[in-house]
Amino acid sequence: MEKTEKLIIIGSGPAGLTAAIYAARGNLNPLVITGSEAGGQLMLTTDVDDFPGFPEGIQGPELMAKMRKQAERFNVRFASENVVSVNFKTKPLVVKTESSEFRTQSVIIATGASARWLGLESEQKLRGKGVSACAVCDGFFFKGKKVAIVGGGDTALREANYLSKLCQQVTIIHRRDALRAQPALQELVKSKPNIDFIFNSVVEEVLGEEKVTGVRLKNIHNEKTSEIQLEGVFVAIGHKPNTDFLKGQLELDEKGYIVVTPEGRTHIAGVFVAGDVSDHKYRQAVTAAGAGCKAAFDVEEYLEHMHLPTEGNGG
Ligand code: NAP
Repeated sequence: MEKTEKLIIIGSGPAGLTAAIYAARGNLNPLVITGSEAGGQLMLTTDVDDFPGFPEGIQGPELMAKMRKQAERFNVRFASENVVSVNFKTKPLVVKTESSEFRTQSVIIATGASARWLGLESEQKLRGKGVSACAVCDGFFFKGKKVAIVGGGDTALREANYLSKLCQQVTIIHRRDALRAQPALQELVKSKPNIDFIFNSVVEEVLGEEKVTGVRLKNIHNEKTSEIQLEGVFVAIGHKPNTDFLKGQLELDEKGYIVVTPEGRTHIAGVFVAGDVSDHKYRQAVTAAGAGCKAAFDVEEYLEHMHLPTEGNGG
């Protein structure tokens, strides 16, 4: 095992990278373990129109590239690995990746959340063969084709808008008759001639053997089933926090989110949290970034309180 780090940040989305920028400027010499999906969920989005400072909007991956460049300017170190387990019952804390084991005085967990699936056997069978959870990644394969999006939130409507520029027809399938997405997005999507809606319906089965040929829907009010033919199904039904590696180490709620105090802290000294991994309410890039900033200040205060040096390299 090597030296003891002062701070390890797990995750490299807006929360992790903002924490890294502030921690580096506070002389904590942070190590960011990026995870295999470096950059987080914004890497899977197109236009980000609500992050302050970009009046014309900015592409998600470009915003993340800028944040990373900014962190690099302050000599933040990066390890492109996944954390597989942690031991928060010892001091120093231990963080294990696929190939290394790190000791550290403090940790900021900023591992975010990943897309949820419907949980149908047919959905899993046809993943990558017409079933996707990322329009930006896979939309290109459906150029000129008919596709469906499942969900009624911001993600579903954003993906529908994106796909409407590529696909012949986009059908939004939603389990209720009211959308959850923000009103501006609803207006935008409703103005698109090649987007239509099927409300009060759930996908009972994704149809097809080698590739998607359609979906069977069930109306939740009268239980009637119907089939529509299409070639792609995009699932956009929310997210699951990335906390599997924390089981038994931190308190998690029934959905897997990290349970925090009203100040946004964990119950373990030296372990801090930022972003979607503990936030099931706001879940915005800007709130994640704000939480990352706060976590970095909390770490600085914690290490000072422990009378540990906050200058130079980890001890
Ligand atoms: P979300 O807001 O939780 O919406 C999930 C949608 O999927 C809801 O409409 C939900 O239906 C539906 N759903 C959930 N489980 C389902 C199931 N098993 N079968 C069928 N439908 C199901 O998730 P999200 O759209 O991914 O957004 C997550 C967060 O990120 C939100 O806070 C959102 O504001 C934010 N976000 C923001 C932007 C932006 O541009 N600012 C873009 C993307 C995401 P019900 O409505 O009936 O619950």
